[in-house]
Amino acid sequence: MTIAPAAFLGHGNPMNALETNRWTAAWAEFGASLGDATAILSISAHWYVNITAVTAMAKPRTIHDFYGFPDELFAVDYPAPGDPELARRIVDTLAPIHVGLDEDSWGLDHGTWSVLTHVRPQADLPVLQLSVHASLPFEQHLEIGRALAPLREQGVAIVASGNVVHNLARIEWGNPGRGADWAEDFDTSARTLLLSDPASISGLLDHPAYDLAVPTPDHFLPLAYFAGLADAAGGGVTTLIEGCDLGSLSMTSYGLPG
Ligand code: ZN
Repeated sequence: MTIAPAAFLGHGNPMNALETNRWTAAWAEFGASLGDATAILSISAHWYVNITAVTAMAKPRTIHDFYGFPDELFAVDYPAPGDPELARRIVDTLAPIHVGLDEDSWGLDHGTWSVLTHVRPQADLPVLQLSVHASLPFEQHLEIGRALAPLREQGVAIVASGNVVHNLARIEWGNPGRGADWAEDFDTSARTLLLSDPASISGLLDHPAYDLAVPTPDHFLPLAYFAGLADAAGGGVTTLIEGCDLGSLSMTSYGLPG
């Protein structure tokens, strides 16, 4: 079996689940590279809790974790199966890092399904989520990313879903398809580091625009998992698509080919 690919996908607005645009086209293109992958592990910004946990139910529910959106978005179902056996294998793979088995709490949140509806519309591969542990220092997120690398050799594709820049308080509705200067600058710095030395993205914490780009760490941290995977692979990050939207969102997505 070939090594399964990995990606960091900038998910942005949940409505992307229903739309077809240049971002979703890039996610679909990543989906076309899945080859003989046997499962997908998703690290979503929207499962941000005080533990590292993995979903372990046979049938994860589709979670509509937002409000104020049209009924058709609440009607989206992503009926991918889970894989309890793989969940246990992930716990073993990450040891001695402690990972909880979530058998009945979470499921697939919109950070996962808003992109997977494009990556894998047929929802035929088992999908598991790994939570983002809110209390860990940045370097430990990188370390968990590195520790996930052996899963790719077992056919597990890994998708980290967040946004490199995500500041809803600074949204500029009159600025579609563009970022404010500080957002573009932060996004460019992230790309330069990821493409040259993925582990060095910890340097972004000292970037002058960090507080504006990352007002809360939830959407940024999935990038650390992807960078850890890329570091374990010795680099090789590709840009799937780049660009900002509405002033204060980066929609840039990265791939790590199998
Ligand atoms: Zn989000």
